[in-house]
Amino acid sequence: MHTTASLYTGDQTIRLLINGEYVASRSTERLPIVNPATQQVLAHTPCSTDDEVQAAVAAAKAAFATWRHTPIAARMRIMLRLQALIRESLPRVARVLTEEQGKTLADAEGDIIRGLEVVEHACSVGTLQLGEFAENVAGGVDTYTLRQPIGVCVGITPFNFPAMIPLWMFPMAIVCGNTFVLKPSEQDPMSTMELVRLALEAGVPPGVLNVVHGGKSVVDALCSHPDVAAVSFVGSTAVGTHVYDLAGRHGKRVQSMMGAKNHAVILPDANREHTLNALAGAAFGAAGQRCMATSVAVFVGESKDWLPDLVQRAKGLKVNAGVEPGTDVGPVISVQAKGRIEQLIDSGVSEGAQLLLDGRSPLVPGYEHGNFVGPTVFGGVKAHMRIYTQEIFGPVLVCMEVGTLDEAIALVNANPFGNGVALFTQSGAAARRFQSEIDAGQVGINVPIPVPVPFFSFTGSRGSKLGDLGPYGKQVVQFYTQTKTVTARWFDDATVSGGVNTTISLK
Ligand code: NAD
Repeated sequence: MHTTASLYTGDQTIRLLINGEYVASRSTERLPIVNPATQQVLAHTPCSTDDEVQAAVAAAKAAFATWRHTPIAARMRIMLRLQALIRESLPRVARVLTEEQGKTLADAEGDIIRGLEVVEHACSVGTLQLGEFAENVAGGVDTYTLRQPIGVCVGITPFNFPAMIPLWMFPMAIVCGNTFVLKPSEQDPMSTMELVRLALEAGVPPGVLNVVHGGKSVVDALCSHPDVAAVSFVGSTAVGTHVYDLAGRHGKRVQSMMGAKNHAVILPDANREHTLNALAGAAFGAAGQRCMATSVAVFVGESKDWLPDLVQRAKGLKVNAGVEPGTDVGPVISVQAKGRIEQLIDSGVSEGAQLLLDGRSPLVPGYEHGNFVGPTVFGGVKAHMRIYTQEIFGPVLVCMEVGTLDEAIALVNANPFGNGVALFTQSGAAARRFQSEIDAGQVGINVPIPVPVPFFSFTGSRGSKLGDLGPYGKQVVQFYTQTKTVTARWFDDATVSGGVNTTISLK
């Protein structure tokens, strides 16, 4: 059954979802959702009012009272239906995603599929949420644990994966028995809302999943709301640190996945073709707007001679709108993002790095107003330069040279971020040492973007993550549940009493 409920008001403002109803926000404050390839305004995002935030949390709180008791199999069946609906809707939702976000259609499908994998994993919550049982911990005494849902959970998501990251959050939270309030990115909430609608079609009951829109004021209201139990955040380090502090101060569980500077270390014994293709794809795919994009290449020893070949491959990538066939690099999300990236490129030049490939102001016939930045490569980069210390979040690869693997490890570990890292080599011994000594959440060995599959968890280190438990996998089941430990003894009429026990020992 497909509902035709409109996600938009008559003036193309995206609706909120509160207690199963798609409602128009009463706010007069709204932001345009802009196609980054054309500047066409596709719709508007309202900034939810405080009353609307209160109503969304109240709906989630009320729904929790019954949803938490819904049998596991019923929750899993909803996820089974959701995965089927997402699969069926893939090309349609991918088109919406490309229009509002800019990435290529193939990559938009990838964005949805990586999220879909989490929904598939949510279908096995029965085994994931199992407690433990120990029989006879004392004579006739058993101890067991219950993994119970924690209540109203909040998700705050970034613009760069409007499908995958919301799907990291609400399916696992809901299938564990919680209710949810989602605050998608205000820059591209349309594809997220398409997925939310599919969740309702799959049978998620009113109030179990709610959506509010907006920016800082809405996020702050959610993070400090007394009825919110947990907050999952994915976005920049500056905002993620603020969310972690604010929600933490208000007693919430928080997981905050933040910015990155992902290094790829290249040893001279690596497979040259594989390595160079992997670097070009990971640095410039999605216009570098992935938290796991390769943004620094560290050439060890002789491998520095490969740099001209890498520049040639980067030059060969096609910059165009994401809907055009054959596009490798789409636009960046906004005029402001493009301006910021170009300023950072300027700073690299003025700080003395060698601009080996300049992607500023590429010609894109038919899309002259798009926010395009072409692949850009810097050589001779030093650790103090802004292009190295800051996350650029654009198609810019900074290249550095070191003498040994140890120097490369020291360089990576001294960077403030610790999201992803990759090593290219054919030496098992080097790879083993690297994986052991490197300080980053995700490590790829000849794999440039090692985003874990959903039976593992996404992790992070240092400036890339706050909070102990990461999204999806087993860690998120811990995050979205609370363990209760029961110690039980049963007496029937034949049991003989041992008298009064005034000690703490189980007798
Ligand atoms: P962002 O931090 O600007 O926005 C993220 C969310 O926070 C959005 O929903 C936004 O509305 C909200 N927000 C923005 N400003 C706020 C403020 N002042 N107070 C409270 N809330 C605010 O991030 P973005 O630009 O949408 O996304 C890109 C960033 O996300 C990059 O830094 C990228 O590395 C990071 N990211 C990290 C991961 C990860 O898993 N580590 C994954 C994807 C993206």
